[in-house]
Amino acid sequence: MIISGKDLSAQMKADMAVEVADLARKYGRAPHLVVLLVGEDPGSVSYVTGKAKACEAIGIRNTTIRRPDTVSEAEVLQLIDQLNADDEVDGILVQLPLPRHIDEDRVIAAIRKEKDVDGFHPLNVASLWLKQPCTLPCTPKGIIRMLKSAGVQLEGKRAVVIGRSNIVGLPVAKLLLDENATVTIAHSRTRDLPAVTRQAEVLVVAIGRPKFVTADMVADGAVVIDVGVNRDPQTGKLCGDVDFAAIEPKASLITPVPGGVGPMTIACLMENTIECFVRKMER
Ligand code: NAP
Repeated sequence: MIISGKDLSAQMKADMAVEVADLARKYGRAPHLVVLLVGEDPGSVSYVTGKAKACEAIGIRNTTIRRPDTVSEAEVLQLIDQLNADDEVDGILVQLPLPRHIDEDRVIAAIRKEKDVDGFHPLNVASLWLKQPCTLPCTPKGIIRMLKSAGVQLEGKRAVVIGRSNIVGLPVAKLLLDENATVTIAHSRTRDLPAVTRQAEVLVVAIGRPKFVTADMVADGAVVIDVGVNRDPQTGKLCGDVDFAAIEPKASLITPVPGGVGPMTIACLMENTIECFVRKMER
């Protein structure tokens, strides 16, 4: 069976559109997300366009600020200061990656924690690991939402996450742990990766290599979540980190690429923006 992130995110967006209309009536304005896009990287431009479209569909006010890739770090930091101080801005998202001459960590840390809709600010990350209220990073949040919506019981399950990045692998492992799964994090130095992944009842793959996970690496009946977004070198089409055609017959549940984790990430970004807005209005 396929877990459709496309369908689930469409339902979430429809619900959020109703919620945003109510909030706009209650507070006199809609939530406002500002996205900062530096440069012209086609992938980044496409992600930012997708986010803007989702905002429009839900009724979230959306501003995209574009700067050339020659912009200085000082100018970016100044812009963030202005957005932090602007009472009409509820969420700030800096599209990554930034050009090499700009220190991403410094830029992320400059965003006010309360406006950090990506959940990347060090204080949000610390709160996640300390189990304190925080803005959850969108992709891991979307993955847990998909698993729950598909009725997957995580408690006591053996979960394996391949990948240990700050934006996907590590936080999704923490969220799985919070759901009482028994979590293994695998990475490029893991010895005998197929032996590790075959143990997984829930396998989350966030590597960034087309069709890296093959059928022999997956146990019968496993739940497989494919986070990867790659171009298939043979067809040029979008594909995940998992060999979908070979694994789908074996898995009990699997997410497709496209139409899986990607749309859920955007839906959770919308949700985070609404949450930041509501917290601000209630302060
Ligand atoms: P990343 O920062 O490059 O991390 C990749 C991870 O994969 C690293 O931890 C790396 O291990 C591990 N890895 C690389 N080669 C491996 C191998 N041969 N065996 C085992 N592990 C290996 O990537 P990311 O930002 O987490 O993104 C991963 C993928 O998800 C990309 O395709 C990205 O485009 C996609 N993504 C999708 C969404 C979405 O919304 N759908 C969101 C974010 C990312 P080491 O730590 O040992 O180097």
